[in-house]
Amino acid sequence: MTKFVDTHSHIYGPEFDEDFEETVARAKTAGVAALVFPGIDTTYYGRLVERSSKFPGYAFPCIGLHPTSVGEDWEKEMQFVRDHIDERKYFAIGEIGLDGHWSTEFMEQQKKVFREQMIMAYERNMPVIIHARDATEALYEVLDSLKGIVLHGTFHAFSGSFETYRRLSGYGDFYFGIGGVLTYKNSTLPETAAKMPLDRLLLETDSPYLTPVPHRGERNESSYIPIIAERLALAKGMGINEIADITTSNAEKLFGIDIQTG
Ligand SMILES: [Zn+2]
Repeated sequence: MTKFVDTHSHIYGPEFDEDFEETVARAKTAGVAALVFPGIDTTYYGRLVERSSKFPGYAFPCIGLHPTSVGEDWEKEMQFVRDHIDERKYFAIGEIGLDGHWSTEFMEQQKKVFREQMIMAYERNMPVIIHARDATEALYEVLDSLKGIVLHGTFHAFSGSFETYRRLSGYGDFYFGIGGVLTYKNSTLPETAAKMPLDRLLLETDSPYLTPVPHRGERNESSYIPIIAERLALAKGMGINEIADITTSNAEKLFGIDIQTG
């Protein structure tokens, strides 16, 4: 049977308080064999741990301070990550990165927090989940400052050009998360993804955000992964089974997880 991994899902969030278990059941029915739950900040931490523990071996928790949560209390938030990172099995440090879309007020702090978490990942040999939005120069600045250490991870919700993909690939052992943007009218992502090697791609929904067509405007959920896989199969001229097999094996390698079969 076709097995997918949703490598970026926030279905542990309050948007799913009414139907979390049903949402997981729908994902399983759709062939989604594992979910990666990236962290955001202290306000999400309890529910992330609690909801992932309901589905061990299926929902994989991660820890990290999200760039849009870097504000006045960033020191306290960062200390929380330092204090909790080694307390249980986390499958990645994330999501971390830079976001200049909503505000650049704390960009210097964002860079500091991003860099420190990249080093934490390196020291523990953990993968990173990187969120980068409207902060290109700052992103390269931080990545340049980390040259010399070998990092592995994923650039989540990738929608850059082929040149950006090539440049980012030069910074380490990186994968690229492909999501709902692939299905959007006027998106250049299908052309770019067609050229990117499949052994560097991961599928993700970013639920509840970035809902793929034809559900755009509604809450996104992990059961929509096959819609993204279908679109990627079309862009690459491949069968959906091949897309599923390779992207699932990429996710297993990156996150060190073993997808349950059957
Ligand atoms: Zn996210």
